[in-house]
Amino acid sequence: MMSSSNEIWTASVDIEVQELIEAEKYRQGSSLQLIASENFASPAVMAAAGSPFTNKYSEGYPSRRYYGGNVHVDKVEQLAIDRVKNLFGSEHANVQPHSGSSANAAVYMALLDIGDTVLGMSLDHGGHLTHGSGVNFSGKLYNFISYGLTEGDERIDYAEMQRIAREHRPKLIVAGATAYSRRIDPEPFRDICDEIGAYFMFDAAHIAGLIAGGQHPDPVPSADVVTFTTHKTLRGARGGCILSTSELAKKIDSAVFPGTQGGPLEHAIAAKAVGFHEALDPAFKTYTKRVVENANVLASELTECGFRLVSGGTDNHLLLVDLRKFDSDLTGKAAQETLDLGGVTLNRNSIPNDSRSPFITSGIRMGTASVTTQGMGPDEMVMIANFTARILRAKSDEEKIKNIRFEVEELCTSFPPYPE
Ligand SMILES: *Cc1c(COP(=O)(O)O)cnc(C)c1O
Repeated sequence: MMSSSNEIWTASVDIEVQELIEAEKYRQGSSLQLIASENFASPAVMAAAGSPFTNKYSEGYPSRRYYGGNVHVDKVEQLAIDRVKNLFGSEHANVQPHSGSSANAAVYMALLDIGDTVLGMSLDHGGHLTHGSGVNFSGKLYNFISYGLTEGDERIDYAEMQRIAREHRPKLIVAGATAYSRRIDPEPFRDICDEIGAYFMFDAAHIAGLIAGGQHPDPVPSADVVTFTTHKTLRGARGGCILSTSELAKKIDSAVFPGTQGGPLEHAIAAKAVGFHEALDPAFKTYTKRVVENANVLASELTECGFRLVSGGTDNHLLLVDLRKFDSDLTGKAAQETLDLGGVTLNRNSIPNDSRSPFITSGIRMGTASVTTQGMGPDEMVMIANFTARILRAKSDEEKIKNIRFEVEELCTSFPPYPE
C-alpha cells in the first residue's frame, strides 16, 4: 500500500529548528535592527522564498535550460527579469546571482583577465570586501588600486580618483560602497572611464532601493554594469542581481552561468520577482523617502548627543559614527556589544584612517531601512539616538542597561514588523 503524504513527512517536524525560528522572530521584533544592510522582507517575499521552487534544477536561462520541467520556472525568472528591467530602466538583467558578492565575482570574470588592474574604493574609507580586499578573491585574483575620501569633508575625492585612473589606467573602475553616507555621483566615473577606455561598474548593493525610489542619483544610464543586492534597502529576498547594457549581456550571462555558478536558486528568484513588484508600487517611493528623512533626524540627534558623524551627516539610509569624540576610550567592538545588551543591534565599523584594527575599530554603522519598514518616524529616531547614548554612557552598569532595554522593547513592540 502506498503511504499517505502525512506518513512521508512526519519525521520532518524539527522542533529544535522551529524553536530557533521563533526565537529569532522574537529577537527581530523586540530589539532595534539598525544594521544598515538589513531590512524586513514582506510576508509575500518570504512565502515565495519558502516555495516549492526550491526543489527545481534549472541550469541555464529561460527557454534555454539543461533540464526538463522548467515551464513555470521559466515564467517566474522571466517575470523577475522584466520587472527589474522596468524598475531600473536597464537594457539587460541577470537575476541569478546568489548574493552581491557572487554578482561582483561574475562581473569581474566577464570583463577582466586575472591580474588586470581595477580601481575601487578603499576598504577603510567605505569600500566593500569584493572591491579588492587581500583576504577576498577580488584582491587575490586582480590588481586592485584604490581611491578614498578627502581629508577635510570626508567625501569621495573625485579629482584624486581621476588622477589615479590616469596614472594606472585600470581596465575597470568600481563605484559604490558599504559604509559611505553621502551621494555617489556617477558622472565623474563615466567621464574618466571614457577618457581612459575603462569599463564602469557601479556596485549599488546598499542603495539599490534608494535609486529605485528616486532618492539617489541613478547610475543605470551611465554605468556599463550595475550590481546590487536585493535584500538591503530594496527590501526583497536575500540575493544579488546584475544590470548591464545589451552589449555586455552575453558576457555577463555566461560569467554567471556556467562561469561562476551552477543551478540558480529559483525560490530566491521567485522571491526577487515579488520584491521587484513591491518596489514598483508608488508606496515604495514614499518608503525610501522616509528612510532618508529618518536617517537625517537620527544623524542630527546623535550629533546633539555628542557623537561625530563621518562625512558630517548623511544623504542616504546609513550613518557612520566616529565614537572618539563621545568617548575616546570606547572602541567599536565594545560599543557594539554593550548596545546589543541594551537591545540596539548594529555593527562596528572602521572609520577613515582608523588607528584601531578592523576587528576592534573606532566606529559604529547604523541604518534606518528596517526601523522605517516597521513604521517608525522622526520621533522614534530621536528616541533611538538617546537610547544609544544612554546605553554607551551606562558602560558596564548592567542594571541601567537592563532598564533601558525594557524601554527599547516597549518601543519595538509598538511597531511590530509582522503584525499577526
Ligand atoms: C553588501 C555588499 C555586497 C555583498 O553582498 P552579499 O550579498 O553580502 O554578498 C557587495 N558590495 C557592497 C558595496 C555591499 O555593501
